[in-house]
Amino acid sequence: MGLYKKMDALTQIPWYYFAAIDQYERSVRLARRDIPKASGITGIYIKEQDWTGILNPNLKDDNPSTIAFFDGKGVDGNGDGKASLDDSEDVMYSIAEFLLPYGVHEYNIRIALWNYYKRDKAVGLIMEKAKLYKTFEKLDLDGKAFPLPKGFNYSYRNTWGDARGWGGRRIHEGTDIFADYGVPVRSTCYGIIEMKGWNKYGGWRLGIRDINNTYHYFAHLSGFAKDLKVGGVVKPGQLIGGVGSSGYGPPGTSGKFPPHLHYGMYKDNGRTEWSFDPYPYLRLWEHQK
Ligand SMILES: [Zn+2]
Repeated sequence: MGLYKKMDALTQIPWYYFAAIDQYERSVRLARRDIPKASGITGIYIKEQDWTGILNPNLKDDNPSTIAFFDGKGVDGNGDGKASLDDSEDVMYSIAEFLLPYGVHEYNIRIALWNYYKRDKAVGLIMEKAKLYKTFEKLDLDGKAFPLPKGFNYSYRNTWGDARGWGGRRIHEGTDIFADYGVPVRSTCYGIIEMKGWNKYGGWRLGIRDINNTYHYFAHLSGFAKDLKVGGVVKPGQLIGGVGSSGYGPPGTSGKFPPHLHYGMYKDNGRTEWSFDPYPYLRLWEHQK
């Protein structure tokens, strides 16, 4: 947080954008094997060649003047005379140097981020994270909750990856938690509502993106909690809807199968998104509640 606040003071770019870029890159690095793990306190990854300049013969160059001569991204952020890729302040300041010419407002930052990542999804994910940090004013947003509250009967088992007959060749991308109609469904995480509405498979469903780029998907709901809207912020344990059996038909179709919450998790690695098994996480959160 200290580093982000320092950058905020130096550049007038709000701290939560630095935190969001850092967290986006950290999450992408954790999900990918083709880029090295973060070594310093920042998760931001810049290739040596981009840091020192494409034509710079010295990939380990940390001299700010030669780096500038070869048009590299590297800068000396902390005034120690070196532009070091291993120094978090230098790395963070080079990001600031990239953003600053665009301006410090949200729409400026969006354009700058697009030019940096060339991917709409990256821009969207970073802006969502910035909103989370701004709302909760803290960096630790890893808290989780089991989707159903205490005191209600439910049952579930591990069915992720099972074959599903209806709607063509699909596998089951989640865990089904069986419970009565109307049992409260809660957010599992701190996150932003990315999607809300009807889908012929999922019925009334909701998608929430957390701070680690993981997408939490809730389907077959009986309805939604009041005041939930796309772009809105939720926290773990917050009511989002009720267990239902909506889906498998046009909007409003319900009762074609026993009521249950279909809960899925999807990971984003900066390029693509894929489903993974939520069952072990559900077991963990269930025993933490
Ligand atoms: Zn399901």
